[in-house]
Amino acid sequence: MTDIIVNKVDKPGVLPTDDKLGFGKIFTDHMFVMDYETGKGWHSPRIIPYGEFAFVPATIVFHYGQAIFEGMKAFRAANNQIAVFRTKQYLNRFNRSAGHLCIPPIDVEEVQAGLFKLLELEKDWIPGTLGTSLYIRPFIISTDGYIGVKVASTYKLFIILSPVGAYYDNGFNPVSIKVEDKYVRATKGGLGQAKTPANYAMSLSAQAEAHKEGFDQVLWLDAVHRKYVEEVGTMNIFFKINGEIITPELSGSILGGITRHTVLELAQNWGLKATERQISIEEVYEAHAKGELEEVFGTGTAAVISPVGELSWKGQKIKINNNQTGEFSKKLFDFVTGVQYGSVPDEFNWMDKV
Ligand code: PMP
Repeated sequence: MTDIIVNKVDKPGVLPTDDKLGFGKIFTDHMFVMDYETGKGWHSPRIIPYGEFAFVPATIVFHYGQAIFEGMKAFRAANNQIAVFRTKQYLNRFNRSAGHLCIPPIDVEEVQAGLFKLLELEKDWIPGTLGTSLYIRPFIISTDGYIGVKVASTYKLFIILSPVGAYYDNGFNPVSIKVEDKYVRATKGGLGQAKTPANYAMSLSAQAEAHKEGFDQVLWLDAVHRKYVEEVGTMNIFFKINGEIITPELSGSILGGITRHTVLELAQNWGLKATERQISIEEVYEAHAKGELEEVFGTGTAAVISPVGELSWKGQKIKINNNQTGEFSKKLFDFVTGVQYGSVPDEFNWMDKV
């Protein structure tokens, strides 16, 4: 592994107070950067001051979007121990996304070492209040100064860090969801299973229309039949029907969430029947009509668990669990966040100590 060069800021920034954090607006003093060139591989790992970068206007990523990213978190436990949640799971997914975008893979060990060195340097920026964390955003962009669609031969990897506030200020608030039947997020054979900007650009119109209509998020259906449930906003989705936990199988157009994987493991460990399979929106509505739809919730790194209180499909609205957070959703949230903040023993070794 190449040595990581560290070039520190002259004057450290002013640390924000935990109540002023919000999400994704504040960045720490330093970032990790690495370069790639065909023939040379990934090289020059370094930690440098967070700041502007110059790219020529022809830089290929601005035009054709060959880029990937990740989103993960570091936490400060009560005893001041800093730990990252399931680091390798996220970095391995980063490499899977790289594969889908023809981006050269990273050495997971090397990037993890760079991340941990950066976290060590920035540890004072990691907030400690329950619900707050340090959001970690690794990303890779293609950097050839070239107009034309092709696989680039040069790339830059960055890791930037953002202290973020509590997602839930006053407990869980179940969200209201529009089942989207006009727009699609992703198709099989496309990029849905990669964490790449195109998928998020694809979601903007649907999200904007749903907001205008008073919904919090959209629930995506499959692009071919507009029938099978895929994801909710930028989260994976789970249903609890008649005691069984069901989430759509990873069909090629769904992002395999690390929280999704964690919830499946936990449900099985707790002795519940947890199934990955196709589930149609009709089946969800039928289960509701029979009184068997017990809970619906989204899973993702930002919120961990986000209960769904209402679904609206072709103007037909159903309320889930009386618009209240379900017991299983609450149990999951308390367990996962408990491990993250150190109040619940880390029996599955999810936390990587920095
Ligand atoms: N689906 C999409 C489209 C996402 O952007 C995310 C957030 N990364 C998820 C699902 C949830 O994944 P994770 O649990 O790994 O955050």
